[in-house]
Amino acid sequence: MNRPLITDIQKYSIHDGEGIRTTVFFKGCPLSCIWCHNPETQSFSGQLLFQAERCTGCGSCIKGCSSKAISVIDKIAVTEEGHCIQCGACLDYCPQNIREISGTYYSPDELIYEIEKDKAFYEQSGGGITFSGGEVLAQDMDYLEEIMKRLYQKGYRINIDTCGHTPFANIKRILPYVNTFLYDIKIMDPVQHKKLTGVENSLILNNLRQLSREGAAIWIRIPVIGGVNDTIPHMEEIAGFLREESISLKQIHLLPYHNTGSSKYKRLNRAYKGEHFRTPGKKELEDFGEVFRESGFHEIMTGG
Ligand code: SF4
Ligand code: SF4
Repeated sequence: MNRPLITDIQKYSIHDGEGIRTTVFFKGCPLSCIWCHNPETQSFSGQLLFQAERCTGCGSCIKGCSSKAISVIDKIAVTEEGHCIQCGACLDYCPQNIREISGTYYSPDELIYEIEKDKAFYEQSGGGITFSGGEVLAQDMDYLEEIMKRLYQKGYRINIDTCGHTPFANIKRILPYVNTFLYDIKIMDPVQHKKLTGVENSLILNNLRQLSREGAAIWIRIPVIGGVNDTIPHMEEIAGFLREESISLKQIHLLPYHNTGSSKYKRLNRAYKGEHFRTPGKKELEDFGEVFRESGFHEIMTGG
């Protein structure tokens, strides 16, 4: 069993399913959506994040790095990616506190211990745990199954937030322990889907059909990205697919795009290619919601 990397364990989440939840973000995803607001969850490896604009060039971090990965060039610390082993030793040496490691290993016991700290909130609110990412179903499935089975046996309600791009065997394996699947549909056109996410959508849509046939509880999540998928015809296409395939869903959630993740690209030393995307307005989201209502879907949520 390989322990996956986790970037964050977010407490008091209210947008990832019923009640108050703890959301666990796994690191690594088979997709690379260019609007991704958690770019640190795309790579399966640990990463060093660094706020270059706040660096004073003092060089103190060099003392902490036995891998000799850091040098100061033009009064800014520069970390050689090929030499950095993401050990985190330099973090404590930085007086500006601008160095950060993304990705921590948790054993099943450690993760369950962390999750159970908020047991009282789950009980009071009807909440539970949501496994997200990155892509949770691209992680070590032995690890995932063990965690989920143990939590399920303790009576916790577990949601999976997935892009759906995984062999169906992975979904089938954890199906008995899942309360609700939060399932993304991003773009219906396979060519556009590949261009903007890195993969075609046929596996994703096939898995959704199969998941529905298995009788799973499904919430469809549609990230609405201005300039990418924010048209009435596109929403009609999604609604048509859901209706024609008789997808047994409990809710449709229209999630407006925000560029809140753009600063993270800077910290990862990556260019953000989504500067031209727009956040859709309230009225637009309402209009899109109406498309789904007219197609017979009545549980529509917008925002978040
Ligand atoms: S994380 Fe470790 S290897 Fe990387 S720069 Fe810092 S001290 Fe060096
Ligand atoms: S210790 Fe911090 S502020 Fe000083 S050079 Fe290193 S990263 Fe920059």
